[in-house]
Amino acid sequence: MTTIYADNAATTRMSQTAIQAMLPYMDKIYGNPSSLHSVGQAAMEALTDARTRVAKVLGAANAREITFTSGGSEADNQAIRSAAILGKRKNKTHIISTAFEHHAVLHTLKKLEKEGFTVTYLDVHENGLVTPEQVEAAITPETCLVTIMYANNEIGTIQPIREIGAVCRKAGVLFHTDAVQAVGHIPVNVQEDNIDMLSLSAHKFHGPKGVGVLYAKKGIILSNLIEGGAQERGKRAGTENLPGIMGMTAALEEAVAELPQAMPKLSALRDRLIAGLQEIPHGAVNGDLTHRLPGNVSFCFEGIEGESLLLLLDDKGVCASSGSACTSGSLDPSHVLLAIGRPHEVAHGSLRLTLDAKETTQADVDAIIAAVKDVVEQLRAMSPVWRDLMAGKRQFVID
Ligand SMILES: *Cc1c(COP(=O)(O)O)cnc(C)c1O
Repeated sequence: MTTIYADNAATTRMSQTAIQAMLPYMDKIYGNPSSLHSVGQAAMEALTDARTRVAKVLGAANAREITFTSGGSEADNQAIRSAAILGKRKNKTHIISTAFEHHAVLHTLKKLEKEGFTVTYLDVHENGLVTPEQVEAAITPETCLVTIMYANNEIGTIQPIREIGAVCRKAGVLFHTDAVQAVGHIPVNVQEDNIDMLSLSAHKFHGPKGVGVLYAKKGIILSNLIEGGAQERGKRAGTENLPGIMGMTAALEEAVAELPQAMPKLSALRDRLIAGLQEIPHGAVNGDLTHRLPGNVSFCFEGIEGESLLLLLDDKGVCASSGSACTSGSLDPSHVLLAIGRPHEVAHGSLRLTLDAKETTQADVDAIIAAVKDVVEQLRAMSPVWRDLMAGKRQFVID
């Protein structure tokens, strides 16, 4: 049995380009970039080169705006903490976000609330989108930060980031975006998109795990989460993960260069998969169909339980997710699905399939459709809830 990996939003396989880009930095160029001797300086040269290349791909004005981190979570934490500290100095303790951010953002915001900040969580509506008007209406003289994700990791909806950024600029409020699911998947340009701070993570675009970037526009003073040496201009202590950084840089350049081919190919596969799964009765797509990541398919099926669905799909060789890797293991339904108004019992029956332009084939998509149809039928045949629904003892939520 071949395995069909359809969980690329959780993580991706590293590209050969990224692997090859890392190898010299584990062997020949092994120096510590902070060392003054020639071995260290060779490492420092590579680090400087990587910073310049990342800045260029993101459309940043200056390489000094790029800080290397241990990944998306750290970048989110540092961006939000830094903005909160800057805000507090001016007695601005209000933050605007949405109800369906990644936990790296939500849990940081929860902590800040305990420390006296107030947070407005904007409604993302049934389609999983916020509007710039909502952001504008929520801004007060006390607002120090707007943090809204570029694209959602569970339902794939893409926010009107450029317009939201423009609203923030006009109001003089810092704007951070968690772009972990967007960078390498759709075009992102920090200057054109009016972004002040941006988080990205290498392992979501075929780079290595444990490395990411915090972009912070010139003039924004970052606070460090990790105290120690003077690496990353004193904003992120610890010897740089040079192999990871070089792998990430190569993966980023590769993914962005391939976007013009990858996006239409992937969207076609996505739409084929959506159309196939829409044939299943009492199921519905989650999130807007147009403003959507090219590789994201997310469904809710009534009368089934997401965990069993995943296990049975895995038996058939299909690796999928019920939504966020972070909520698996807990019995709570996904906060993202609740945020778009799915009732608890429906949110439990969720399925996320995230495809990849180079790895997923049309035959894979057809095999996934057949497998999901089979498994949903099988689970419903055993489900007391489904029996009640069919007997009219319960009302269907999804027609
Ligand atoms: C994966 C992900 C993160 C976390 O990134 P890590 O590098 O795994 O810490 C943050 N935000 C979003 C939207 C993600 O998908």
